Amino acid sequence: MGQLWRGNSGSLPGAELLILSPFVIAQLLAWTAYYDAERAAHQAAHRLITEAHSGGWLELERTPTLAANPFGSRASYVLFQLRQKLALVFLPVLLLLVQRELQRLFPQTWQEWQRTVNFLGIAAVLVVFAAMPWILRLVLGLTPLPPGPLRQRLQASARRLRFRCSNILVWNTRRGMANAMVIGILPWVRYVVFTDRLLDDFTPEEIEAVFGHEVGHIRHHHMLYYFSFLTTSVLVLGWLITDVVVAYVRPLPFALDGHSSDCVSMVSLVAVLLAYIFVVFGFLSRRCERQADVFGCRAVSCTSPDCCGHDTDVAFAPHGRGLCPTGINTFIRALEKVASVNGISRDRPGFLQSWQHASIGRRIEFLQQMLLDPGVERRFQRRVFLFKALLLLVLGSAVALILFQDAKTSAIDPDRAATVRER
Ligand SMILES: [Zn+2]
Ligand SMILES: [Zn+2]
Repeated sequence: MGQLWRGNSGSLPGAELLILSPFVIAQLLAWTAYYDAERAAHQAAHRLITEAHSGGWLELERTPTLAANPFGSRASYVLFQLRQKLALVFLPVLLLLVQRELQRLFPQTWQEWQRTVNFLGIAAVLVVFAAMPWILRLVLGLTPLPPGPLRQRLQASARRLRFRCSNILVWNTRRGMANAMVIGILPWVRYVVFTDRLLDDFTPEEIEAVFGHEVGHIRHHHMLYYFSFLTTSVLVLGWLITDVVVAYVRPLPFALDGHSSDCVSMVSLVAVLLAYIFVVFGFLSRRCERQADVFGCRAVSCTSPDCCGHDTDVAFAPHGRGLCPTGINTFIRALEKVASVNGISRDRPGFLQSWQHASIGRRIEFLQQMLLDPGVERRFQRRVFLFKALLLLVLGSAVALILFQDAKTSAIDPDRAATVRER
């Protein structure tokens, strides 16, 4: 994305205006970096059960479509692919292009209202983030789950787990994949989405367990955490890298102008950010997925910790407080099915496919340990809590330090503060 954007910049008219305004470069830089982060968060938080896909729209290529299903015309296929694969990618590009075109058309106003424009930019990103469920529903053509026993069952489950969402939707992937996701931080703009294949191939118990996994992400506030983590990380890394670059560029025997050092900062920021997301976010995301897995087990567990099977009229524990062997086994079965239906290797899904979610084999292994020793879960939850709290504490302190330094600099010397900020 960053490359795409930079690649475009030469061919578009008015590119010099961008370079003239360090403020806008900083903004573009933030948006460019933000996009990767946002996409990673989105992928981790939303493509939840299947461990590995590099994006729902990419999976369609890997999963063989059943010959029994009519495939539709070429035009409809192309349109379907375009909608699923490209529409979402084009949205941020479109936003950036609009921003750029406005800037090109009204350069004067842009310069004069830089602060307002910057504020509006941040507001626009937040609005797009909050409205993401609506955007996805529109782009992917999601439809409400029709009324019936399954919908009633899931609604009852939501009430029991104290979970609120605005609707349960179906994603028609032409039976391409079995997957589910939850989208939306706010309960009144939040959807739980199941693909057609999952609804066709999974039993109601398994679907409810998968639903529980998605509810688990919300109950553990994963999306809010990802959002704060990524925002503070981008701030802190951006600040660190700019400082390091400035420190190294100054003693160089030849002079680098402001633009070159901005370029160096930008390239290093994108590189470091990607590596950071891969390592730290990957680690965090795998823990969060496991938390959601455990909640999925709880969603279909009764109150008896040593039950040996559920009748059709079993009463599941309220608020997801129960954790019984039958519930754990239902969730394990759902995971096995995700692997077999999507054609994912259970134990060796590939490096790129397992950085966000552990392999299905390892996820199941953990749940089986939980069956043997209930203490495993308690210890796991405690470790995850400590890790998450520590991470947020470190990032929060760093942001506080940056703000403090900034305030101090501007108090001592307003001119210098301005240059520092423009950097
Ligand atoms: Zn998940
Ligand atoms: Zn039970």
